[in-house]
Amino acid sequence: MPMNRREFVLTWGLTAAALAVRPARLSGRAPRRIAVVGGGIMGASIAYHLAKRGAEVHLLEKRGPAAGATANSFAWINAGSKRPRGYYELNHLGMAGWRRLQHELGPSRLVVQWGGTVQWQSEPERAEALRRGVIAQQAWGYSSRLVDVTELRRLVPALEPGPVAAASFCDEEATVDPVAATKLLLEAAASHGAVIRHPATVSGFDMNGANVRGVRVGGEVVGVDAVVLATGVELPALGAMLGLTVPMQDSPGLLAHTRPHGRLLERVIVAPGATLKQLPNGEIVTGVDFGGSPSQDTSPAMGQRLLEGAGRFVPRLKEATLDRVTLGWRVLPADGQPIIGRVPSRPNVYLAAMHSGITLSPAVGQLAAIELLDEVQVDLLGPYRLTRFVK
Ligand SMILES: Cc1cc2nc3c(=O)[nH]c(=O)nc-3n(C[C@H](O)[C@H](O)[C@H](O)COP(=O)(O)OP(=O)(O)OC[C@H]3O[C@@H](n4cnc5c(N)ncnc54)[C@H](O)[C@@H]3O)c2cc1C
Repeated sequence: MPMNRREFVLTWGLTAAALAVRPARLSGRAPRRIAVVGGGIMGASIAYHLAKRGAEVHLLEKRGPAAGATANSFAWINAGSKRPRGYYELNHLGMAGWRRLQHELGPSRLVVQWGGTVQWQSEPERAEALRRGVIAQQAWGYSSRLVDVTELRRLVPALEPGPVAAASFCDEEATVDPVAATKLLLEAAASHGAVIRHPATVSGFDMNGANVRGVRVGGEVVGVDAVVLATGVELPALGAMLGLTVPMQDSPGLLAHTRPHGRLLERVIVAPGATLKQLPNGEIVTGVDFGGSPSQDTSPAMGQRLLEGAGRFVPRLKEATLDRVTLGWRVLPADGQPIIGRVPSRPNVYLAAMHSGITLSPAVGQLAAIELLDEVQVDLLGPYRLTRFVK
């Protein structure tokens, strides 16, 4: 979405000032005191990676840990269908990042379900697209492969897939409980000295020229050398306080959750018109697909409809009891790609807003810490600067 002249002047007219008021590190001192605003998976991961490297982190969250999109996420960890190539690479790094985090935090504490994903299509045209997609993924070295119905049933014994025109399995994909992972990252950040505060609503900023020198929380001002805005769908509101225009679109997503049920699924299932998985505690989570949901209806009747949709493929789902329906808002920048990085007109402000944030959070946390603490511009993040929206 192009900016108008006033927004352009506000955002970019400060560039000259920005060059004069550079981030602290360029004047010889890495930012030490960093406020991370937002306690979803992204803020938690960035806080953890910064604190691990010795920064003095204040994480400020207005509700509670994982209260936004993160709580309402399907949390499939995947990269295969991500395009263009650079975005695929970033997601793939995110997948590897989950393995690294498990190593750092302990596999018994950070439970990532590495069962992979089975997918299939029943209609010829979609089946052809699935086959072509798998071949394209393999050409990039992704471990997706075509499987037959016998293997599909072996991979998921509870499955009754109906007509199968093409099917695939990817053994490197995973899923996680996004709320548990966020809480654990916050706990790990705190163990490295980060101060985690909630409820703590950021209501404004104190400026020193183009830079933020204080973050306002209630009547208090938290002094900072840099600030990270990881406020999900609320980034445009926080950005506006700093004269920044952050173009984002609304995209709702519904998921039905059952009460804990005996083990049925060890993998993510992407069926025609239904996605499902089972958390380690037995809860089964199901939605329609990975695009925006047309409905925002969280009634039990809608939940039953979602369960029935998934029950076509996993008949034993009929034994499960609906617990709740969640409505989440995808953190979706206007062009669908992430917004990550510093803002030239506000040199010590760092933005992090994206969909697929569960997959991406370990990589983005690590790369953001490099960009913030080492003053390096990470190539892989080049396409995701806010500046791309300026025409
Ligand atoms: C239905 C659905 C399905 C999804 N499925 C997947 C998937 O399968 N795989 C995947 O990788 N991703 C998926 N996603 C996307 C992923 O969940 C998000 O990208 C990710 O959770 C975003 O995390 P976040 O921390 O950026 O935002 P959030 O989790 O929204 O966190 C932002 C936080 O900022 C806080 N905040 C806002 N304003 C302020 C303020 N002024 N002061 C203090 N705090 C503030 C909010 O309270 C909130 O807790 C899905 C999302 C949805 C909605």
